[in-house]
Amino acid sequence: MDRELLSGIKRNILLNPGPSTTTDTVKMAQIVPDICPREKEFTELMANLRRDLLRVVHADPQKYTTVLFCGSGTMNIDVCLNSLLPANKKILVVNNGAYSSRAVEICEYYGLPHIDLKFPEDQLPDLDVIEEVLTDNPDIALVHTTHNETGTGILNPVREIGELVHRHDAVFTVDTTSTLAMRPIDMERENIDFCMASAQKGLMAMTGLSFIIGNRSLIEASSEYPRRSYYCNLYLQYHIFETTGEMHFTPPVQTVYAAVQGLEEYFREGEDAKWARHTRVFEAIHRGLGRLGFKDLIRREWQAGLVVSILYPDDPNWDFEKVHDYCYERGYTIYPGKISDMDTFRLCALGAIDEQDIEKFFVVLEQALEQMGVAVPVQYGG
Ligand SMILES: *Cc1c(COP(=O)(O)O)cnc(C)c1O
Repeated sequence: MDRELLSGIKRNILLNPGPSTTTDTVKMAQIVPDICPREKEFTELMANLRRDLLRVVHADPQKYTTVLFCGSGTMNIDVCLNSLLPANKKILVVNNGAYSSRAVEICEYYGLPHIDLKFPEDQLPDLDVIEEVLTDNPDIALVHTTHNETGTGILNPVREIGELVHRHDAVFTVDTTSTLAMRPIDMERENIDFCMASAQKGLMAMTGLSFIIGNRSLIEASSEYPRRSYYCNLYLQYHIFETTGEMHFTPPVQTVYAAVQGLEEYFREGEDAKWARHTRVFEAIHRGLGRLGFKDLIRREWQAGLVVSILYPDDPNWDFEKVHDYCYERGYTIYPGKISDMDTFRLCALGAIDEQDIEKFFVVLEQALEQMGVAVPVQYGG
């Protein structure tokens, strides 16, 4: 708390799906003497960051490597899909939500041959159907899906999907942006060839630095694949890092310092303790929702434990924007849903927060409902 006084920065509780609430030490880590990122001091910092990120997903440094990019998390999806598809091959996207739909859009923008294998947004993908599609399409070389579908909070069975993918000799890229450094991941055990995240989610650092952790030999093999982007080519960025230690073009210098600090705090808190804290926050969110009568969308046992999608109550006085504004003015940010045909909002358990923050938030939320004349407990089916 002293540190907060020292920096004097207001602490906001972000319940949106990233960027997340950061510690003041991470915020302050950005205040550094000016440095040219081509200096050895800085390239060493990035080399250590690349190496240490492997430990988060228990990746063997002989076999896996981290490639950093300057951009938000979507850039990772773009890079993986456009860089890892050999000529005359096809991508399969296992799609049960907004972030896998984003991957499909990337395929469309590059004109990459792909299959958009859609499942309902509130359901797990059907493994038998995936297997059938893989069998019927031997030209599928890359399968992509989302680990925690942040649009709904559903946790996809990546280990099982990955097993099918590998049995059909394809490469498995998984968007782990909303699980990495929160929900423990062992890449190899989960059958993941490439995972990815950006610094503002699990690392609780700043937006602008993204990274892909992947199989080194697959990246090297991709040097022979069609080149579909210059700035967003995985092999090129990897090759420059390996040969010079530098990012091909200017890295987000201050954001890198914050990420280094975030990662240090991650290891200090510990994988299990951090996951236990996110779980406490998630359970506090469910307790609060239960007390006010809110219903959530995804079956509880399918939830990844980080995002809750909540159905709008059937009350003429309910107005999400007004609830949002009331909470926002008091330091709590809530977020709209991302489901095509249903009215939902989201509360997320990311960031440097704990259950007391959630308990205080629900006091504010209840006040907002009272002030708007929304019946509590909230009503459905009216
Ligand atoms: C946050 C997030 C991203 C990245 O989104 P940006 O807006 O580019 O930061 C990608 N995938 C998932 C699953 C996410 O949760």
